[in-house]
Amino acid sequence: MPVVRRNYRLSAGFGLLRVEDSLPEAKEAGEVPESWLSVFKRANGGALFMDLSSEAQPRKFRSMIGNLVTDGTIRTQDQTEVHLDIAIVSISNTHLQEEAQLGALADRIIPVKFHLPLDVQSELKIHNPVKKQKVNNVHYIPGIREIFSRMIVVSRLEPSQSTALTLTSEDAILFYGGGAKLTDDKMSLVYHSYKELREKRPLDGAKGFTVREAGILRNKVEQYHSCIGIQHIFSMLRDPAYYRGKDTDIKSRIKDWIVLDPDKEGNYSLGKMEEWYRSYLKRDLVRAWLGFDRFGEMKERYFKDYLNHALHYTMKRKIFDPKTNEELPVDEDMLRLIENEMGVSKAIEDKFRSGVNAFFRNQGREVLADHMPLHDAIERVIMSFKANKDALSPFEEMQQAILEKTQDIQKAKKKLDFVMAELLAHGYQECCWENVRMYAKRFMFA
Ligand SMILES: [Zn+2]
Repeated sequence: MPVVRRNYRLSAGFGLLRVEDSLPEAKEAGEVPESWLSVFKRANGGALFMDLSSEAQPRKFRSMIGNLVTDGTIRTQDQTEVHLDIAIVSISNTHLQEEAQLGALADRIIPVKFHLPLDVQSELKIHNPVKKQKVNNVHYIPGIREIFSRMIVVSRLEPSQSTALTLTSEDAILFYGGGAKLTDDKMSLVYHSYKELREKRPLDGAKGFTVREAGILRNKVEQYHSCIGIQHIFSMLRDPAYYRGKDTDIKSRIKDWIVLDPDKEGNYSLGKMEEWYRSYLKRDLVRAWLGFDRFGEMKERYFKDYLNHALHYTMKRKIFDPKTNEELPVDEDMLRLIENEMGVSKAIEDKFRSGVNAFFRNQGREVLADHMPLHDAIERVIMSFKANKDALSPFEEMQQAILEKTQDIQKAKKKLDFVMAELLAHGYQECCWENVRMYAKRFMFA
């Protein structure tokens, strides 16, 4: 194929794609391996697809690509002049090299693969319209768009690895962008960054629901329902018609998270994703029961108390109460109550307490959400706290009211009206409240 130098037209457009499949690992940082430079020669006079974003690529290599794309030409180390005739951006499922009519161009095309989004928050942005489109009045109950996005992301994770991995704990997978979890010995907090997960799990994102397919699924469910809940998302994912002629892998990828086949009675047992949704909903219902603001204030108070008491415990000091000018002992019961929720044993409590304070010191701020295990533990303590052994916890009170098991019907009704008002102020509509109330009553608390 003759190589003819032509002016490169920026208006033709170009895209940045990955060449992970064809680039060997770089041995040393900063140097451009010879085998990489050969990529330019292979592309000489033809088409080049590249990814400029990868941190692993030496800066020099990236600037060579940058020059090649913007100028249409570069000179490699052995003085070969490389011209780029065309830059094609193509997203398709066909393998260009197998197309016969490409002729000599075929061996100049470097195969690349796009990785599908693996970060739930990125996926959520795709499915979350910036402006609320009220055209057809379709809406999702709070938490449902996220469940949907999680299911889409799960379909892109390698099945053998989608559950029970130590590095990529379940939580880390659910939050591919970086989950935080206590180590197995409960001593310290670990994060799994997107980059780390990406490197350890190179096959994730190669298969599964594409962005387009996810959009089609969403349109489908929006066509039949206006107030979309967990049941609607799940019955769509369980519909065998949807998988006909599709990548059958998808089923094996999602089946650990959603039970796809019913038992003999036609019932579906609880999968992990629905469990996740139930804890989400339970939390929202208790927050509404106590009042969202009050719940938030209680969390803050527990958090400050935990840090303060843990610090004084570590320093072996009493706590000075400015109101009464008294010195009070550290409230070890409160510390233990919260630590129990995280599975921290008595044997390691000393280390854990000083570790938590060190963590927030290193963060340079005291934001509870930075330490998810502590955050979740405090929420669980609030939800299950009993004033005395005969009292009901906020969760139990809410449960009784929803099940209409209370003595004082009038009082319970009033309280449920309060719950509804709280939920309406936090993203739910009246139909959503009816929907989640029935769901909780029939499936969660039955
Ligand atoms: Zn609704």
